[in-house]
Amino acid sequence: MKLTDSIEMLGGVGPKRAALFARLSVLTIEDLLHFYPRDYIDLSRPYEIASAPFGEYCAVKATVYAKTGPVRAKSGKKLFKVSAGDDTAALTLTFFNSPYAAGKLIENSQYLFYGKVGGSLLSREMASPQIFSLGISTSFMPVYHETAGLNSKYIAKCVQRAFEALDGAIPDPIPEKLRAAYRLPEKALCLRMLHFPASMREVQAARRRMCYEELLTLQLGLSLLRSQTRRESGAIFAKAEPQHFFASLPFVPTRAQKRAVGELCADFQSGLPMNRLLQGDVGSGKTLVAAAGMVMAAQNGYQSVLMAPTEILARQHASTLGVMLAPLHISVALLTGSVKGKARAELLQSVKSGEAQVLVGTHAVIGEQVQFQKLGFAVTDEQHRFGVRQRSLLFEKGQSPHLLVMSATPIPRTLALLMYGDLDISILDELPPGRTPVKTYAVDTEKRARMYRFLADRLHEGRQAYIVCPLIEENENTPEGLQPVTEYLEQVAKPLLPGISIALLHGRMKPAEKNEVMSRFVRGEVQVLCSTTVIEVGVDVPNATVMIIENAERYGLSALHQLRGRVGRGQHQSYCILVSDHTAPETKDRLRFLCHTADGFEVAKYDLENRGPGDFFGSRQHGLPALKIASLEQDGRILYTAQQDAHNLLTADPRLDTQPALKAAVEKLFAGSFSLN
Ligand code: ADP
Ligand code: MG
Repeated sequence: MKLTDSIEMLGGVGPKRAALFARLSVLTIEDLLHFYPRDYIDLSRPYEIASAPFGEYCAVKATVYAKTGPVRAKSGKKLFKVSAGDDTAALTLTFFNSPYAAGKLIENSQYLFYGKVGGSLLSREMASPQIFSLGISTSFMPVYHETAGLNSKYIAKCVQRAFEALDGAIPDPIPEKLRAAYRLPEKALCLRMLHFPASMREVQAARRRMCYEELLTLQLGLSLLRSQTRRESGAIFAKAEPQHFFASLPFVPTRAQKRAVGELCADFQSGLPMNRLLQGDVGSGKTLVAAAGMVMAAQNGYQSVLMAPTEILARQHASTLGVMLAPLHISVALLTGSVKGKARAELLQSVKSGEAQVLVGTHAVIGEQVQFQKLGFAVTDEQHRFGVRQRSLLFEKGQSPHLLVMSATPIPRTLALLMYGDLDISILDELPPGRTPVKTYAVDTEKRARMYRFLADRLHEGRQAYIVCPLIEENENTPEGLQPVTEYLEQVAKPLLPGISIALLHGRMKPAEKNEVMSRFVRGEVQVLCSTTVIEVGVDVPNATVMIIENAERYGLSALHQLRGRVGRGQHQSYCILVSDHTAPETKDRLRFLCHTADGFEVAKYDLENRGPGDFFGSRQHGLPALKIASLEQDGRILYTAQQDAHNLLTADPRLDTQPALKAAVEKLFAGSFSLN
């Protein structure tokens, strides 16, 4: 069997299982070997029952005494009970609806049980434990990200079989010299150590090596991409005069905005295509900077495009830009997936003819049928939502257009440089005047009634509010204590806010429904928007002054800060209330930190230093290829080393011709973004 073979070549994996593996992005044997465990079950030192920690996952060694069941539990499920124990205490094992698990246990035999010990000191219980026979060969069982129908045990079995069936070596992309210099073990060995380690030290050693390989590959790919887009010369905007535009605005631009626009002007006249990141905290007024760029493009006969990650945001940008650019007679068109038929054909025609000077839209704007007459300036908003691939497609829509990527996720400068290389950076470090900082509070659910009374008061004063819940609806995998938004709306929000108009908004609604709800909220007909995090990016409703975030512990601080940025946009005092019942000190510290900090850069720094859930470099946030093992915030030192090594490798061999395995790894990581041939 070869690495490139389909997963279906493994014995026991048919089309059905292969489809399940595909959900985990595992298509080939190689993908499977690179599908790393997310954790390990430590069976190496099982606890005695009496000393097993309460409420934590652990392994115990126990003898099965007797089995009873099934009985019907209150929920209607069938309940099987097994009494077990060791010299120190008794333990009752319970299994729901799984006669199989309980059935195969043999009385008077010993097993390892892995689960959470609960019950009381006198009668200890373990619900639905995993069962291992004592003869098990490895003492650390891999735990994988699972999907319905594929559990960790099964995945481990497949990985085991893949190792056995594989003929030929696993190529090692890291050049010999570097491997020797850093004393990195061989790749094949590391993969084995990651899946079936004999100790946690093996895991660490193997992890370090695989991280380095991944980050080296990432850095090489980024450098290569950049050298592809940097070669051409950019459009020159001979006339770049924003003053006229500034004078037409209803307010005075901030100094930071003027400085950023000045930086754009310089790029526009440099003869090289601009490649600039505009960073600014939520509400710092990035849209105005983009608009100024569009004005300058139009002055020189060029078109502009702005790509936004969601339809809601695209619409909002189209309407803001429409208003901003109307006095200068610059036309703005909107293209999203919902523009269809004749309207779409007409719109595409006006883009092609150059009649539409500014096109705003979702990723529909990089669609194949979209042709510009003369595209000179391309903007992406909330750029971390887009991949490098989409950015380069946008670039290809014009003849080396100037590129501006806008992001409210403040990335510390050193890291931004590392991630984006020679992307230039403009920073809006100043908010428009007259904003009062958002008052932020962290509360637990005991205070909910009080919080709702406070909310009702604000609503009766005429303000509006957002309530954010983590999920759309409940399913069998929903961890306890999470609030699905649909249920929350009916059971909590509506009863507590009689007479208030509340609407639901979530990602699984059709775009047309979402737009309808959003427009009603913008018009003030809907007073409270009860939603998932779909409102996270960019929405601007100045009359909304309260943001309630349920299960706040679920989010990284940067994400919470983004959500908070939805309020505090008008003249009224705004409030952000973080609701969480988590009592862990780290969580409390994190939420408290946000209560006292308004500065997005400080928040990002805190996230960087104290990793929490939904860290802002989390795989889908940064627009880079998804990393399997390395973490950009935790493996900063390895990243730095990898960057230097990538630079040296490319200087010596710009197309990696002497390193076929490394070249293949780069192409695989950036699949579809470019080819080195
Ligand atoms: P963000 O950087 O989060 O994208 P926006 O561009 O949406 O911020 O701007 C936030 C709000 O601030 C908008 O309502 C915008 O009209 C307003 N705004 C932008 N610049 C200024 C300014 N210089 N003075 C006053 N208000 C401004
Ligand atoms: Mg914005």
